[in-house]
Amino acid sequence: MVIIAGDIFNPQTAEFFDGYIEIEKNIIIRTGKGNAPKMPDKRGTILPLFFNWHTHSADIIARSRIQKSERKWTIEELVGPEGEKHKILEETRDPELVSAMRQAMWEMLQNGVGGFCDFREGGLHGVELLNKALLGQKIACLRMARPAKNIYDVKEMNMMLNSADGIGISSISDWDYSELQKVAKHAKNMGKKIAIHASERIREDIDLVLDLKPDILVHMVKGAASDFSKVAQAKIPVVVCPRSNAFFGIVPPVDKMRKAGIEIKVGTDNAMISSFNMFDELQALRSISKLNPIESIKACTPDNLFNGKLYTLSEGANPAFMLLGCGKKGLASARSVDIKAIFL
Ligand SMILES: [Zn+2]
Repeated sequence: MVIIAGDIFNPQTAEFFDGYIEIEKNIIIRTGKGNAPKMPDKRGTILPLFFNWHTHSADIIARSRIQKSERKWTIEELVGPEGEKHKILEETRDPELVSAMRQAMWEMLQNGVGGFCDFREGGLHGVELLNKALLGQKIACLRMARPAKNIYDVKEMNMMLNSADGIGISSISDWDYSELQKVAKHAKNMGKKIAIHASERIREDIDLVLDLKPDILVHMVKGAASDFSKVAQAKIPVVVCPRSNAFFGIVPPVDKMRKAGIEIKVGTDNAMISSFNMFDELQALRSISKLNPIESIKACTPDNLFNGKLYTLSEGANPAFMLLGCGKKGLASARSVDIKAIFL
């Protein structure tokens, strides 16, 4: 049996309590407030493992090539439909892509990430490679697939969504809207989720975006105040990726979004641009917004969009948390090196 004790983050209240957790054979036996019944094995600050709300994990394959290049890329040139990223992905053999995604998962776990929402390109085949990479992994994944070509194909949709949790749309600007409507309707009919990159490079028509009934939007950096009110009214969370935006010289208007009432989530986006280190992403987020450390942790905590199954302190559940060596007062400057143990 292992007993860990200290300041424990309660995601329901977004507050810490002083207590302890007893774990045996990777199952939580007891969670309590106050002093532990026995001398704790480890002490520190206990946080849920992060949920990285937006990744393109396979892009890690292009990391060294892009980071070594001196070139100043635009969004279109690097990640657009005809961009360098897609060329690199297409020329990479399947086994290399699978091992690259495994490397991405390893990197995430090392940095306290227990789950991620991955945009997987390449249609059915693309999501099958992700499933292969996930085999035997403890990290959880919300798999957002997309049609291989930007057209609606009933058979492809059925097969692809039977292997995925939803669809991840590159942007409405890349599609013939009537085709995209069919894709979105199909996904909803199958009870799957919809995530859309919206207003990243240019402002897009938010009414058209919201009519697709997305569960989550990504970016919205070029959105106007009226767009933010509509998104807030529709209660759709927005995932922001400050480091990825910074690479292209963009600052996401996080405070304006929050002022409008939008729930903010955080992701690391394209793996060739940013590492999967959520501590670094949260530092970047706080440097451009008024979020405090606790609010920023909430922005990468799994919730009911992910069926809430990743983090619980309930007896009988598997643990999914990390123990930090720094006290809760040091959270603002916490880094991955402060992780003393990961329980998953
Ligand atoms: Zn993205």
